[in-house]
Amino acid sequence: MRNEQAACYAASAIGYLTGRPGVCLVVSGPGLIHALGGMANANVNCWPLLVIGGSPERNQETMGAFQEFPQVEACRLYTKFSARPSSIEAVPFVIEKAVRSSIYGRPGACYVDIPADFVNLQVNVSSIKDVERCMSPPISMAETSAVCTAASVIKNAKQPLLIIGKGAAYAHAEESIQKLVEQYKLPFLPTPMGKGVVPDNHPYCVGAARSRALQFADVIVLFGARLNWILHFGLPPRYQPDVKFIQVDICAEELGNNVKPAVTLLGDINAVTKQLLEELDKTPWQYPPESKWWKTLREKMKSNEAASKELASRESLPMNYYTVFYHVQEQLPRDCFVVSEGANTMDIGRTVLQNYLPRHRLDAGTFGTMGVGLGFAIAAAMVAKDRSPGQRVICVEGDSAFGFSGMEVETICRYNLPIILLVVNNNGIYQGFDTDTWKEMLKFQDAASVVPPMCLLPNSHYEQVMTAFGGKGYFVQTPEELQKSLRQSLADTAKPSLINIMIEPQATRKTQVNTVAKQKARNASA
Ligand code: ADP
Ligand code: MG
Repeated sequence: MRNEQAACYAASAIGYLTGRPGVCLVVSGPGLIHALGGMANANVNCWPLLVIGGSPERNQETMGAFQEFPQVEACRLYTKFSARPSSIEAVPFVIEKAVRSSIYGRPGACYVDIPADFVNLQVNVSSIKDVERCMSPPISMAETSAVCTAASVIKNAKQPLLIIGKGAAYAHAEESIQKLVEQYKLPFLPTPMGKGVVPDNHPYCVGAARSRALQFADVIVLFGARLNWILHFGLPPRYQPDVKFIQVDICAEELGNNVKPAVTLLGDINAVTKQLLEELDKTPWQYPPESKWWKTLREKMKSNEAASKELASRESLPMNYYTVFYHVQEQLPRDCFVVSEGANTMDIGRTVLQNYLPRHRLDAGTFGTMGVGLGFAIAAAMVAKDRSPGQRVICVEGDSAFGFSGMEVETICRYNLPIILLVVNNNGIYQGFDTDTWKEMLKFQDAASVVPPMCLLPNSHYEQVMTAFGGKGYFVQTPEELQKSLRQSLADTAKPSLINIMIEPQATRKTQVNTVAKQKARNASA
C-alpha cells in the first residue's frame, strides 16, 4: 500500500471481518508512527490487529540510529500488548502471544518489534521450541442466575428494545440474535456497524425511529455495544432515567460503564444469546405485536421514512444527499460491502443504504476516524476475493474524507480490486461554495482571507484520480447521470471505478455577494 496508516486500517478491517488479526508490516520510526493511527483505531473499535515493526540494530540504540524511536513504549498506549522478543529464538513465542492477545478477551491491537540485526542473525533451528498456531478464543457463558434474571426482566418489559452492536457482528451472533428477535417479536436497533446482523429491512428493525426507541424504552438489552457517545452514554434526556439495561459483553470492565445495569451477562454474545433463548423458551411468551409501544414505533418510522423520501424526490439541482443515496440504494447489490466515511455523507448514507448481511458495513467507527475508507475497502475486497468472487465493495466517501488516503486508488488499480468509489462532493469539509461564489471571492484582493478553511476547490475532478491509474471515472451532476454511471460500474466487473457526484454545496445557500460579504464581516470581527 502507499502509506502505513491506510495499510494499518486495512489490516484492522481484516481482523474484524475474519476474526484473526491482519498483519501490518512497517518500517522503523516514521513508518511505525504512521501506523499508530491504525492501531488506535483498531484498539478503540475492539478489533484484532498485529503490527510488526522494524527497528534499528540493538548495538546502535541510544546513539541516534537511523529512524530510532522508543517504539515498544510508544505502542503501549495504542495496544493490549507491545513487546520486542529478547532473542531471535523467542520470536515464535512472542508472535503467538501477540496473536492470542489480539483475539482473546476483548479483541484489540498488538505490536511486535523486530530489530534490524535480527534479520542477519544465524539461528540454530533445533533450539527453537515448537509453537503451535494459536487456537480460537475459548467461549465463555454467563452465570445461570443472571440469565434467569435477564429473562424475567425482558418478559416484564413494557417497552423493550434490543440494541445490536458491532460486538454482536464480530461474535457471529447473527443466527441466535435473529431467532431471539423473531421468536419473541422484539424491536431491535442496530448501531452503525451492527447493521446487517439482522437485515435492515426486517419488520422488527426500528432504525428509522432511533431517537424515539432510545428515549422511551423501559428495558434495553445491549448486545456488544458500549454506552459511549454513539449511544449518548445511556443517560437522560436521551433515555428514561429508570431504564433497565441488560448488558451483554465479553469484557467485564465494560459492565456498569456510565449506568448501573439491571443485569450483566458476562460472556460471548452468541453463547449468551443461546442461553437467553433457552431460558425464555421455558414458558410460552412473546412480546405482544399489537402493543402501544409497537404502534408508537411504527408511526414514528412511517413519518421519518416519509420525510426522507420527500427529500429524495426533490428534483432541484444540484442534488441533495437523500436524492443521491436513494438512487444508489436502488442499485446496491444485496451482498455488497458498504464502506463509508465523511460527516453528512456517512450519517445520512447510513439511514438510506441498507445492509442485509452481518459484517458488511465498515465506517469511521467508535473513534470517528476519517481516512479509513480506502484501507477498509481494500480489506473488504481482499476478503471478498477469497470468499465469494464477484462480490462488490461500494465505498461511499465525502470529498474531504476521500482526500485523506486518496492515493490508495493506485493500490486499488494495481490489484484490480472490485471496488466502486462514490465521492459525494459538496466542495468542502461539512460544506463548501459553488464555482460562482469562488469566482466572486477571487475578485477581492485578499482572496485568501475570505476563503473559509472548510472550503475545498469547487468541482474538483476526483474521478481523474481513478482514470490516472487505468480505472473508470465518472463526473455526475444529475440523478440520470448517477444512475447510468452506477449501472455501468456495476456491470463492468473488469475494472474499479470512481463516481464523483456533485451535490448542493450548502444546505441554505445565500446569494453570492452576501456570502462573501458575510465571510469578510466574520473575519473582521474575529
Ligand atoms: P458499537 O460501536 O456497535 O456500539 P462497540 O464497539 O461500542 O459497538 O462495542 C462492542 C462491544 O462488543 C465491546 O464492548 C466488546 O468488548 C464486545 N465484544 C466483542 N466481541 C465480543 C464477543 N465475542 N462476545 C461478547 N462481547 C464482545
Ligand atoms: Mg464534503
